[in-house]
Amino acid sequence: MPSVSDLPRRLCLGPGPSPVPPRVLAALAHPTVGHLDPAFLALMDDVRAGLRHVFATTNPMTLAVSGTGSAGMEAAIVNLVEPGDRVLVGVNGVFGGRLAEVARRAGAAVTTVDAPWGQPLDREELERAIARHAPHVVAVVHAETSTGVVNPVAGLAEAVRAHDGLLVVDCVTSLAGMAVEVDAWGIDAAYSGTQKCLSCPPGLAPLTLSPRAVARLERRTRPVPSWYLDLTLLRSYWGDERAYHHTAPINMLYALHEALAIVGEEGLAARFERHRAAHDRLTAALDDLGLPFVSAAGHRLPMLNAVAAPAGVDEAAVRRRLLDERGIEIGGGLGAFKGRAWRIGLMGHGATAEAVDAVTGALRDLLA
Ligand SMILES: *Cc1c(COP(=O)(O)O)cnc(C)c1O
Repeated sequence: MPSVSDLPRRLCLGPGPSPVPPRVLAALAHPTVGHLDPAFLALMDDVRAGLRHVFATTNPMTLAVSGTGSAGMEAAIVNLVEPGDRVLVGVNGVFGGRLAEVARRAGAAVTTVDAPWGQPLDREELERAIARHAPHVVAVVHAETSTGVVNPVAGLAEAVRAHDGLLVVDCVTSLAGMAVEVDAWGIDAAYSGTQKCLSCPPGLAPLTLSPRAVARLERRTRPVPSWYLDLTLLRSYWGDERAYHHTAPINMLYALHEALAIVGEEGLAARFERHRAAHDRLTAALDDLGLPFVSAAGHRLPMLNAVAAPAGVDEAAVRRRLLDERGIEIGGGLGAFKGRAWRIGLMGHGATAEAVDAVTGALRDLLA
């Protein structure tokens, strides 16, 4: 029978998970305590404070949903959308499409504003669509991991609020790797995942709701259709009542606590700058290799770099050799980029010059 300790070490430079620092792994391995143990509850309060810091918010309703980033997406939508609500979603990649699908399944009347893969959403087009449809909820992916593009989020809230709508933003890939300003940008609900720029294993979805979003939640005419993700219940556990809802993934919260401590020690500005510097170094090396980006210049994410595989090269075979011979994982293309692109993630602990040199050096050898 294989054992976990037989698993090879990998350098994770794909679209997530990112490399997890030893301190976080050590925290994860700390003996499990009870989820209502007062010592653990104090740790949870610290996690909330750390999440408010990375989201740049004072929102009281800030917590970590049990589940991966997709659980955060689902929680944001099912709590804030009621059947028949108009929801406008920006779609220029896989995750925008997924948001639209989740909203449809929640019974929303969904309209999309689309942009070609590799291009950002157009702010003016979004604003025109908002004026036309007066949506209850506008949902946008900040960092579209499938294409490596950043979408315009700052400045969108004004148009959304003009119709008393709520702005929901997917920050799964952007959080802790580039500026995410929940309060300053007027975001009503933001969610993320732990395994991208927070450099923690997958398993928790940081989530924050503005007071406007909480008011919407409290005005619902029907109960939240998901019992597990019902924030009116979850907040009783994360809040002062500490009411049992489900058993918190205790060790994952240890890990997130440590990951947030590391973010605090580095400082957000320095962390964003480190991601930017790694991206610049990668850009120069890819240019040298003659590998062009498939994402539009000026709108590229620092932490997720989508590049075209050379014509005639089997991109999957190259990825396989990178993994087998060099122990480096990168991602393949999704959707419109399937079979044509590589996605190189420089997330969290992976945003270093050493990681950039390792992956570009290996690509240079394999493509020679
Ligand atoms: C990774 C990702 C998700 C989904 O997160 P999971 O942890 O895989 O469930 C959602 N949105 C974006 C933008 C992502 O990059």
